[in-house]
Parts: sequence; C-alpha cells; structure tokens
Amino acid sequence: MKEDFYQILGIPRDANEEAIRRAYRKAVHRVHPDVSETPDVERLLKLQEAYETLSDPEKRKDYDRSLKQEARGHVSSSWEARVGPPRATSPWIEVILSPWEAINGLRIPLHLPLEIPCRRCGGVGWRGLFPCLDCGGSGAAIQHLTFFIQIPPGIQDGARLHIRVPNFGTRIWVLVRVQHP
Ligand SMILES: [Zn+2]
Repeated sequence: MKEDFYQILGIPRDANEEAIRRAYRKAVHRVHPDVSETPDVERLLKLQEAYETLSDPEKRKDYDRSLKQEARGHVSSSWEARVGPPRATSPWIEVILSPWEAINGLRIPLHLPLEIPCRRCGGVGWRGLFPCLDCGGSGAAIQHLTFFIQIPPGIQDGARLHIRVPNFGTRIWVLVRVQHP
C-alpha cells in the first residue's frame, strides 16, 4: 500500500488548503532539526512529500483519484514480472478498468518488483572465482518501484500498452481489461 498523505499530516480527506498548511507547519515544527529537540529527518521528508502533493490542487486531484483507485483494488498484480536488462523476460501487468474509466482514461499507481543487475557483481554472478554473495550467484537483484501509468481515454478491452518505466530504461507491457462491475 502507498502511504496515505492525509494520515501523515493528520488531516481529514476533505481538509481545505488552509488546514493542510496549518497541519504541515505544526508537524514540521515537531521534527525539524532547526527547531525540534527530537528531530526526525525521515519523518520530515515524508511530511514534505505529503505537503507538496496535497498543497498543489492538480497534484492533489491526481493523488485523490489514485487513492480511490487503490481502495477499489483495481490494480491486479499478476507478476511473474521478471523484468529488466540484462536478462529481460517479458513482464505483464493486467489492469482491470470499468467501462467509464476506459472511456475517460486515468492514472494508475503501480507497485512493481523489477529485476535489475546485482550491484555488487554487475550482474555477472561471480566475484573472481567465487559466486557473488549478494545475489547468490544469480547476478540479479530485485528492486521495488512505485510509479504511475497513464491510461489514455477511449481504450478498448484487450488493448496492450508498452510503457516505459521512469528512470529505469526498461518497458513493461500492460494488458487492459474492461469489465462491467
Ligand atoms: Zn551479485
């Protein structure tokens, strides 16, 4: 599950801009190294991330929509998802949309385990004469990524999207299913 920005700031889902700003200031005060006796930088970063999203009307709208999406459990994760250079086998994600969503398009959050080359051995699996201990000799490591994909409006049942994973230099296939609730 994604972290709930509203929960992080301790405000209700319908909080207005002023309430968001107030909650943010108060919360920051409790953890900021400059002013707090019990500083907590990790918490501070979370607060900033939450505030950045919720204080921007456009971002907030997207985020709210993604929350609803997640709550409805629309993103089904069928990963035998084994992705990524250098040993890519094709990853498939199936996404189930309502007819309304298919017509209008939407943004969907994905949480994906992606296979990446082991950093320690560079994906070789060996360190000199010995198997790499970090990856057990497989040469692969798993990294968990969260990102959004954009489903264009007017998409049909059975459509396939080839989507680039941000900052990752790899692509995933998304199979779109349109189902009546
Ligand atoms: Zn390794």
